[in-house]
Amino acid sequence: MRLILWTFSLLFFLFNARVSYSQTDAARRPIPYPVRYSNAFKEAVHHQTRTLNGAPGKAYWSNPTRYTLHALLSPETKMLQGQATISYTNQSPDTLSQLVVQLRQNLHKEGAIRNREVETTDGMQLSKVMVNGQHYMERRLRSRTGYKVQGTLMYISLYQDLYPGETAELAFSWNFQIPDGDSPRMGQDGEVFFLGYWYPQMAVYDDIQGWNDDLYMGNAEFYMDYADYDVNITVPEGWLIAATGELQNPEEVLSTETLTKLEQARESDEVTTIVDKTEQFPGVSTRTSESGLLTWHFTAENVRDFAFGTSDRYVWDAIPTNISGKKIMVHSFYRWGTSAWKRAAEFARYSVEYLSSRLVPYPYPNLSVVEGIIGGGMEYPMITLIGGRRTDFTLFSVVFHEIAHNWFPMLVGSNETQFAWMDEGLVTYYTNEGKETFFTNDMVWEFEADQYEIFSETDTEIEPMRHADLFPISGIARRVGCYNKPALALRALQGVFGYQLFNNAMRLYIDRWTNKHPQPFDFFNTFEQVTGKNLDWFWTSFFYETWPLDQAISEVKIENGQTTVFIEDLGLLPMPVLVCATLQDSSLLEKEIPVEHWLQGNRTAEITFESNKVKKVDLDPQHFFPDINRKNNSWSLESAP
Ligand SMILES: [Zn+2]
Repeated sequence: MRLILWTFSLLFFLFNARVSYSQTDAARRPIPYPVRYSNAFKEAVHHQTRTLNGAPGKAYWSNPTRYTLHALLSPETKMLQGQATISYTNQSPDTLSQLVVQLRQNLHKEGAIRNREVETTDGMQLSKVMVNGQHYMERRLRSRTGYKVQGTLMYISLYQDLYPGETAELAFSWNFQIPDGDSPRMGQDGEVFFLGYWYPQMAVYDDIQGWNDDLYMGNAEFYMDYADYDVNITVPEGWLIAATGELQNPEEVLSTETLTKLEQARESDEVTTIVDKTEQFPGVSTRTSESGLLTWHFTAENVRDFAFGTSDRYVWDAIPTNISGKKIMVHSFYRWGTSAWKRAAEFARYSVEYLSSRLVPYPYPNLSVVEGIIGGGMEYPMITLIGGRRTDFTLFSVVFHEIAHNWFPMLVGSNETQFAWMDEGLVTYYTNEGKETFFTNDMVWEFEADQYEIFSETDTEIEPMRHADLFPISGIARRVGCYNKPALALRALQGVFGYQLFNNAMRLYIDRWTNKHPQPFDFFNTFEQVTGKNLDWFWTSFFYETWPLDQAISEVKIENGQTTVFIEDLGLLPMPVLVCATLQDSSLLEKEIPVEHWLQGNRTAEITFESNKVKKVDLDPQHFFPDINRKNNSWSLESAP
């Protein structure tokens, strides 16, 4: 059998090689194939949970959850003890015989399957697992009920099925050792403790895949459902907490001086220091208590996750902002002397204001930026963790990027695990826009394009439409495929459709998918509906392939009062050609070759300007498109032979 297959493969190879040789010879290129919906998406359209125009269907559902969490954090032992009750409602049309719970601390367990180096701990040690008042034990080989932990996932086989419309009440007790350092998105360094993925969280059950039970291996990020949270966190007095949600008991944990300064900060237009470096003591920054512990109570509604940071070394700055008539407090927490961080609150305020005006208003009651532990930045609802000493430029970049994640994927809840570009690509696009405006720096997009273009020539590029754990572990293919390339694709869309239409499409996409779970097709189809165009050629070329773009001017002829520009399309990625002629009096003439010209299989084009006073011709002079060789994009009379 093996031999036959081998012979067949060889014949196929020879045949294929001959064909591809003749194709190269004829200088033909692939015509982008249509976007092919997944079977699950087609099923979803059939069941009316989704539509073909990009909007959710009238039968769209997701499973709402309510978490009541208690955490006791001991900085001394570096342990967290937790208790949870979780109400999980099955709004799906399916009867669930099992529930899947994420135990992401098990990433750190010895022997866990990982694609990133992490600190090893014992993972999440469970001491209680209950569903609807019944204790569940670890499942034995032949028993049908109980729970089974496989890596970062817990599968609970229920005693009684959960029917559509029913709610299950789960209860857990657990503890874990808080891992050291950059772990990779939470952890502690002895002074700062940042807690993400610290409680058992329901996996997402959706209309596309049912239970989404991707292992957390370190690289690929998350997919989470919307939930309400009621959280009590106990820490030593003198320790400040920044968290997702709103603090419900400020007068029980903050000192009178701190409360007064917070009140003053609300009315100021400048950054107010709430706790400075001389005030980091129990009784000065916080209240004191007989036990030496204080319990901070937070609530949050309709968020994907709950995270918090705590330290007794934090300086605390705050500044208010007004978003669509609503006052939102912006906080920064950092250790004194961490360079650039004095401007963190100012940067955060700028970011939230810019993004609110460009997208939709920031939907949450407050925002915190906290310093510590990790190398880069990590997003959580209403709070971001950012590490390291930085320059103004790099701090601004990370602050803006992580805050933009409040829209993608916090507000628009895409599946980061399977389609990382849907949040990272969009966020990178807006971060470049924000940096360009804040620093009036027009090199921001050039830098983004350079990173992609240099990498695209290494032959190791990987297309964005790929599960985030299926990129090579080393190197920058994941970075380029999930961040740079999709950001450049959005900029190219802006170049094709203009700023206004592009913004309209993005806003409609957000409106439609707020607190819901869009698939890539929902994003694609929303754009097509708003622009009225079939964009299969664009999605296929940018998201499913690694085809490079290389438009070139091959010749310019000036004769008989006319200027004719001869254009060659040397790459594989078809785009419209934006041709700009500069006349001797510096006025500009612009023309466009529509993409359809290339989609018909042409490799060359010519375009004529009714003037013989042309001194310069440029293709895409504003650099909207990621052309891998810009040297052949311009022609000038002076350098003409
Ligand atoms: Zn990001």
